[in-house]
Parts: sequence; structure tokens; C-alpha cells
Amino acid sequence: MTAHRIRDSAAQVHALDTKAAIDRALRLMAIRGKSCEEGAVVGQITDELLAAGVPKSVIHVDQVHQSSPAGGETGNLIVTLPGTRRAPRRLLMAHLDTVPLCVGCRPVRKGGVVHSADPTTALGADDRSGAAVVLTAILEILRQKLPHPPLTLFWPVQEEIGLYGARFVKLAQLGNPRLCFNWDGGSAGTACIGATGAYDLRVEVQGIASHAGVHPEGGVSAIVVAALAIADLQHNGWHGLIVKGRSSGTSNIGVVAGGEATNVVTPHVALRGEVRSHDPRFRQRLVKEFRTAFEHAAKSLANDAGRTGRVKFTADLKYESFRLSESEPCVQESLRVIRDVGLTPVTRISNGGLDANWLSARGLPTVTLGSGQHDVHTVNETLNLEDYLNGCRIGLRLAVGA
Ligand SMILES: [Zn+2]
Repeated sequence: MTAHRIRDSAAQVHALDTKAAIDRALRLMAIRGKSCEEGAVVGQITDELLAAGVPKSVIHVDQVHQSSPAGGETGNLIVTLPGTRRAPRRLLMAHLDTVPLCVGCRPVRKGGVVHSADPTTALGADDRSGAAVVLTAILEILRQKLPHPPLTLFWPVQEEIGLYGARFVKLAQLGNPRLCFNWDGGSAGTACIGATGAYDLRVEVQGIASHAGVHPEGGVSAIVVAALAIADLQHNGWHGLIVKGRSSGTSNIGVVAGGEATNVVTPHVALRGEVRSHDPRFRQRLVKEFRTAFEHAAKSLANDAGRTGRVKFTADLKYESFRLSESEPCVQESLRVIRDVGLTPVTRISNGGLDANWLSARGLPTVTLGSGQHDVHTVNETLNLEDYLNGCRIGLRLAVGA
């Protein structure tokens, strides 16, 4: 398959119903639905699909929450439509969940921007604006009666807590798409063609309890072991931004929990952290440096009987990194369509994880495009309507292959 063959279709795409597209995004952003609680948003999108004439038989909710370590109330929403013309299947996707900060948001429009009327919440443009782009594409295809290739619409759950919807979806349910497009970003002209990979770290430091006033030398403080390890990592350049020769990455200890009283030498501390790098080998090196630092720290601290603490260290791959070539068909096609709507395409690589990480790692190269979201995961989050509407225009053209 070449990019040239993809261009052969000549469907006539008419102007978008911009009011309907904006109302759709506002409706979706107002729905409560943090990770694991996406049932209401699945319901709303399903209702809009049915009302537009999408047959019930092609709308599925899978059981991905049963394979997800987080559980959850619903699976992924997947729609597989046959084509009205012969062409490779295309997949359009955007995640359904929001971060908890969005719960209770009241989207209001002010000129070209939408924000939450409640100053204590984020907006949820991440990623309901993306979900609205995918929904708008199919609703416009039906409204304008546009010929289209076989299409898969994929709304995964649980992106924000570990990309679980995309990680555990059964690939057979996606209908073997050849070109995959994900909306989860800001500027409509930007195509994200790669992203970093990350490990989740968990460290349990077991010390030895002792009375802190009567017999402190009998104890081994888990807090001190953790502090020594973190100081060692920081001192040797393995914490925060990491640059070693030509290799680079990042790391962070984000959670430290332990201790119950000041008169006890603390016997237990649990830490959580992460390491990231685009380079899988260097990422493993970072994991090893963390493990070694904690093990050395535990060995370096003994009580008066010569006994030391212990460390239990686990590293789980959260997501693998990926980098698409600019000649990859989904990238070529995205850049062409971005130009067609009058924008200058820009490619970029992300230092965060995306559902595209898992789909790309699982053999479905996926480009991630913008839907107008800005300052995500903060109370300053906004939806830029010009970017959102251009995202909708790009989504519609990518869906019909025009
Ligand atoms: Zn997102």
C-alpha cells in the first residue's frame, strides 16, 4: 500500500456544521467520567451514534475493564463499519476518561475559547475534545452521505491511569486497520509521531523498629535508608533530568509514605517513582541505577547488632517508546490532510505516554493529532475552538480519505 493509492478517492467533503461540532464537545466535556468511571460518556456517544442511524449491531463495548489492573465500570467503545468503497480500513480514536480534576466541570464558551465556569476544576478537553472529533467525523459522513473506506471508531477507557484501554484491547476487535489516527493534543497542525517509554517503580524499604529514645541504636530507620538512596541518585545525576553522554532520560520519586510516630525508629517506607527514556536500553539502565542505589543504601546502614534493613524493588513497564518514520502511511496521510485544510504541518515527539504507544508497540502504527486542548490537567485548561474545528475538519478528511 502506498500513500498515492490512498489519495485516489475523490469524495466531496462539504463544510462542517461548526455549531453542532462545538455543542457536541461542550456536551461531552460536561459529563463526569474520570478513569474507570466512563459509563456515562459511553452512553452519551452511543445515543448520538444511534440517533444518527449507526446500526446497533456495529456498536460494541468490550470487556477490557476485566483485564485492567484498575478494574472499572465499562470497557472500550468500538464501532466497526464496513466501507462504502473498497480501501484499507482506517481507525480513528480518542480516549474517554479525564483526570479526576475535571469532575464537576461546567464548560462555558467565551469567544474562541472554552473553559470551566468552576475555577476549581479542569475542563476535560483532554480528551473529550478528541472524542468529539471522532464522533463528529462519523456524524458528518452520515449527514453529508460521503463515501468512505471501512472504518473503526475506537474510544478507549483508562488512558490517564496507565493507557489500559489501548494496552489490553483485543486487536481482533479493531478489524485490522491499516491507518490509525488518535486525537489527544493541542494544535491542529501538529502530528505527534513518537513518544517516550516509562517504567513504574515501587520500592518497599524494610528497616528495624526500635524505641527512638530508649534504644535508637537497635533500630534501622527505613526513612534514612530511603533518604540515603535518593541523595545518592541525586548526587550522581540519576534523579530529575538525566544526561549521560549521548543518552538522556528523566526520573522522579513522586511518593514517599511511611512512619507513624516520632518515638519509633521507622521500620517501613513505601516509595513510588518512575523513569522515562526514548531509548529502551538506557531506560533499563535507569531502572538498574535506582535498584542499586536502594540496595546499597540498605546495606550501608546497620544497627548495633550488625543487622541491616531490606529492600523490595519492582519495576513495571508502563509503556514502550515508539518513533514512526515520516514515510509511514498514517504520517504521510496526516501531513497531507493538515496541508489540505490550510495549515502548516509540524511533527513532534512527546515526552509523555499516549494510547498510540501501545497501539504502535502492538503493530498498529498510530499518529496523534491535535484537538485544541491546552494546559491540560490544570484548572487553567481550555479548549481552543479554532484548533478544535480544524481538528474536526482533519478528522473528517482522514475518515473519508479525501
Ligand atoms: Zn489525554
